[in-house]
Amino acid sequence: MAQVQTLPKVMSHPPAPNFHASHWQHRPAWQTTWHAIETSFGRGESFLHTLQAWQQDANAPATLFFTAFANESPSHLEPLIAGHLFGLLPGVHRIALENNKVQLTLCIGPAPVIAREVDIAADSFYTDSLEEWGAKSIARLCKRGTCLAWSYTASPLLKELQQIGIQINDPPQSGVYQPQWTPKTSLRPSSSTLFHLPNDAANRHAVVIGSGLSGAAVAHSLAGRGWTVEVLDQGENLGAGASGLPAGIFATHVSPDNNVLSRITRDGVRATLQRAKQLRLEGTQWQVSELLEHRYAGKRQLPSGALWPEAGHEWSTNAQTPQKVAGGLQENSDALWHAMAGWIQTHAFVKAQLSHPNISWRGRCNVAQLQRIDSEWQALDAHGQCLATSKHMVLANAHQCQALLDTVQCTEHEKINQRPHLPATALRGQVTLGSMAMLPPTLREKLPSFPVNGHGSFIGQLKTLQSLGTDAEDYWIVGSSFQRNDFDVTPRHEDVVSNIQQWAELMPALSDEIQQGIELSKTRSWAGIRSALPDRVPAVGEFKHPDFKGLQVCTGMGARGISWSVLCGELLAAHLNHEPLPMAASLAKLMAASRFG
Ligand SMILES: Cc1cc2nc3c(=O)[nH]c(=O)nc-3n(C[C@H](O)[C@H](O)[C@H](O)COP(=O)(O)OP(=O)(O)OC[C@H]3O[C@@H](n4cnc5c(N)ncnc54)[C@H](O)[C@@H]3O)c2cc1C
Repeated sequence: MAQVQTLPKVMSHPPAPNFHASHWQHRPAWQTTWHAIETSFGRGESFLHTLQAWQQDANAPATLFFTAFANESPSHLEPLIAGHLFGLLPGVHRIALENNKVQLTLCIGPAPVIAREVDIAADSFYTDSLEEWGAKSIARLCKRGTCLAWSYTASPLLKELQQIGIQINDPPQSGVYQPQWTPKTSLRPSSSTLFHLPNDAANRHAVVIGSGLSGAAVAHSLAGRGWTVEVLDQGENLGAGASGLPAGIFATHVSPDNNVLSRITRDGVRATLQRAKQLRLEGTQWQVSELLEHRYAGKRQLPSGALWPEAGHEWSTNAQTPQKVAGGLQENSDALWHAMAGWIQTHAFVKAQLSHPNISWRGRCNVAQLQRIDSEWQALDAHGQCLATSKHMVLANAHQCQALLDTVQCTEHEKINQRPHLPATALRGQVTLGSMAMLPPTLREKLPSFPVNGHGSFIGQLKTLQSLGTDAEDYWIVGSSFQRNDFDVTPRHEDVVSNIQQWAELMPALSDEIQQGIELSKTRSWAGIRSALPDRVPAVGEFKHPDFKGLQVCTGMGARGISWSVLCGELLAAHLNHEPLPMAASLAKLMAASRFG
């Protein structure tokens, strides 16, 4: 089920006193966000109560971050939010509500270990699990001034709270983190501790280079937070790079050990679903559906046992015979059934994300060089003309990222710091597409309404491929080829042949009809270049090198740009805006652009 972005008003009568609301009332005028933490999510009652207070309070912070913990995936949820919370496997999950103005971060796993995945302090903190958490784990998520409250506790624990720097009120069920010393912290500073930073237009302006899925996602995430964003692209129109792909699949990834790729991809699919829903893309531009994954020998096994509890089944299960048959597989084929997947017309998704009043797009802007003057970055063209300037420059130009990084002139730091390095590989790929009408009726009738992937992929019943300027005919699309370090995007006949062959292998029950029923001359092709990093994980954020401060990247989407780009955009925006991350801090670290140098 897709995510709905807004909740109905929780209750119509005046709210009962709410701990978090009673404190955000007294925040300074400049503070527009609030981060509430609760150690027990339960059925979601307290979250809903806080949401109710936020909805009914004219003086509420513009954005509310609510982080809550649960040892296991909650099995009984309040009906108002149950529909939003699918597939809560151990980990950190972001659910964006109220048009992104309420961001619920649910951390599932044993406490307090899972709390290490949160790296930003609370403005207000409520716990009914003081004994389980211990004073230290709680203090770790506090900053000077954090207001705390707890359910009844024995006096030794109160003493511990005092020792850790919490001033306890009378009656002793609340307090304020106010240590007499300067607390050491490994947390990122939250927006509410950065009051000394001017919150002016120059600080909330960014230039994004590249307007594919990555650039559009970053721009949209920043624009939604009130930033103004200039997006530059060398192309005359949108879709000059890999995001010119007519349509592609978003789908979860599974692995026996529930590896990093699987966890990032699930977070990404959740983020993509939320954004596409929020943008109100039309039914012709995307579709949420199940997806059948043909498992070739030894590939893509589901995790087992504790790694794949009930919540995992809400994402992926072994496919049943009727699902395999409906997807053109044989009864004895090995296959997985993914419940949260779909396809999207890439051009429509990019365009919708860029269609925000805070975003301006400029084509035919080929950035040839970057230079930093004081704290300002300049994007220069081949003649040295400045195309745009900002304190925050984001490189979202895929495999051409390194070339631009190499144009930055370093100063005194050159010798002691390694220059930023993104060892990306360019992977050419070609898809083949054609009208549903060109297929023999016997094949057409047997093709599934949901996408199928495995070694290659199939999407059928696509409407009006906007990026190719075609008419309203229904289309199918299959792909793709992979050619390393090949930059020629001219369509090739041999790729058409191999794509059709791959399709026949993907759907073995329809193999003969596919191979004999398709006239290659009536098909069309599109080719593009993917950019992939060696660990197959995207790269997001800043570099360590001091001369590159203020320069961000968002790249390395490989063959999963639709599944990953929104999450990456949100991650980058959370960093720039000093907000809680939309995912586990340990996963975000593995995606850091600085991991290669
Ligand atoms: C054949 C094929 C099939 C695919 N199928 C799928 C799929 O089913 N599902 C999926 O999720 N993904 C799929 N992908 C991958 C997906 O297309 C990419 O991951 C995604 O489009 C990458 O987006 P991006 O914004 O990072 O890069 P791009 O879309 O390449 O965008 C980079 C942009 O930067 C611009 N640029 C570059 N250099 C400069 C410069 N110096 N100055 C100004 N602008 C510059 C380019 O013009 C371009 O518009 C497929 C890719 C291919 C090739």
